[in-house]
Amino acid sequence: MEIKTLEDIKLNLTERSKINDIDFENLSFGNVFTDHMLVCDFVNGQWKQPEIMPYAPFTIEPSARVFHYGQAIFEGMKAYKDEAGDVWLFRPEQNFARFNKSAVRLAMPEVPEEVFLGGLKKLIQIDKEWVKRGDGKSLYIRPFMIATSSGVIASPSNNYRFMIILSPAKSYYSGEVKVVIADHFSRAANGGIGAAKAAGNYSAQFYPTKLANEKGFQQIIWTDDATHTKLEEAGTMNVFFRINDTLYTAPTSERILDGVTRKSLIELAKKENINVEVRSVLVDELVAAAKDGSLKEIFGAGTAAVVNPIAGFAYKDEYFELPKVEKSYALYLKEKLTNIQNKVADDTFNWTVKI
Ligand SMILES: *Cc1c(COP(=O)(O)O)cnc(C)c1O
Repeated sequence: MEIKTLEDIKLNLTERSKINDIDFENLSFGNVFTDHMLVCDFVNGQWKQPEIMPYAPFTIEPSARVFHYGQAIFEGMKAYKDEAGDVWLFRPEQNFARFNKSAVRLAMPEVPEEVFLGGLKKLIQIDKEWVKRGDGKSLYIRPFMIATSSGVIASPSNNYRFMIILSPAKSYYSGEVKVVIADHFSRAANGGIGAAKAAGNYSAQFYPTKLANEKGFQQIIWTDDATHTKLEEAGTMNVFFRINDTLYTAPTSERILDGVTRKSLIELAKKENINVEVRSVLVDELVAAAKDGSLKEIFGAGTAAVVNPIAGFAYKDEYFELPKVEKSYALYLKEKLTNIQNKVADDTFNWTVKI
């Protein structure tokens, strides 16, 4: 695909870049931001001219709807630099489409393609030096939208602000991840907002995750809210299970976010002749597979970590440690995918888009 650059964009660029103050070898995820951000306001039923300006705080009324009713959505994507110094996005049209799907669900206006993708392209061109190469380095991209109208009346806002901020990232090592299978709390419910990338889905996870952390677990595997018998997502990632030599992942639904990493891994696995089945895995099935030794791997899939192997899981009062496998599907598929993203392997799927 070709991303149209946005001509009609106001540029207010910084006079002094912060880039020389940054230690790119020691970045913690999502803490450092580039020199610029994109801002585009929706006022009186219309998107205004977008502006690229220095990354900085801005003022907003204390009564703005976002603070009271959580009308806020976001996306997470990455840009990569190739050997020649060109910058590439990975399946950006997927994030754009999902953003507007989230917007509709939260009664927010859809963002035009030329603002989301065109604005993103221009912003990254301006902050291109911040995209580093090698060793898992990338630029994490965070587009988001908030409700800005003042007044604490519980109705959708009239005005919104769409923004894009950029954060240089290095490869993401989460350490050993042990998970708890949820048997009470839920991340999402049928008819709810679980399929949207809504800010509130994240705050809803913090408390149950904190309880899990206190017991020595890093994440929760979410189950369906009605019966807690089907395995659905791992923390804020989609989840894959390998039983014998087949990979399983749940179909997307109103409760399961349609992850770009998930769908890319399914296609990659098929191409690599790994058996993949898109179907729900039951908690009982997982416990039985752990007991008889057929459960080989569990891993999360999402943009930030790409693939996040899980070391073991707890269900009720039992803990199951996963075996150390020789040929890990998680690591194999991660390497295949990151090689495409970093432009060191042929992109036969046509997933990468040059900025
Ligand atoms: C963002 C997200 C994912 C992963 O989606 P990617 O497009 O692969 O980054 C999975 N689950 C939830 C709940 C998410 O919010």
